[in-house]
Amino acid sequence: MAGFRSLARQVRDPLSDMALRRYSLRKCLERFAPYGHRATWDHLCSRVGIDPEDRSPDPARLVAALDELEEARAVWLAYEAQFAERRKREKHDGLRSPGSIDDWHRLTWGGCGVAWCDNPGVHPHEPLAEVLRRLIAGLEREPGDCCPVCDGTQLVWKFGLAHEPSSGPVCTSCGIVVPRPVLTRSALAEARRARLLVSA
Ligand SMILES: [Zn+2]
Repeated sequence: MAGFRSLARQVRDPLSDMALRRYSLRKCLERFAPYGHRATWDHLCSRVGIDPEDRSPDPARLVAALDELEEARAVWLAYEAQFAERRKREKHDGLRSPGSIDDWHRLTWGGCGVAWCDNPGVHPHEPLAEVLRRLIAGLEREPGDCCPVCDGTQLVWKFGLAHEPSSGPVCTSCGIVVPRPVLTRSALAEARRARLLVSA
């Protein structure tokens, strides 16, 4: 199975045909897609002005989409490396690791679905790297009451997500599933209550 970097080289290969280069970018999304494959593709296409169904997109736009994805991937991998290093140190010092953030990391290692958008058409509009920086800042500070990406406070618990965990608090402003470790207990309880109001 080709890795992200060799796929990225294929996306940039001017001698390849455009359908193959586009296909290679989509394969990159199987390795790294913060919103999930479909929502991240939708995001990149809208950012660079490609029709998601266009089999032969403008090469400069396709490469711009890859650039954005690569920048975001670098941000995320740097965070993961730092996280792993910290955990190793804590283990060495005999500190018990807090459960919820580790559990969350196990499900998102490598950066797939870290800001899962269950509806592929609803996701943040900022550059992916910026969204991930905000998410990481949220993971690194004390839990709060709002979405770390858009500061939205309308969170509604949703079930049957096409992702693990299959339920969680969804930000109704930007569309991401907010990682549970960034929210306080009361914000999580509030999201569950909002769910009951919606379904009542
Ligand atoms: Zn949000």
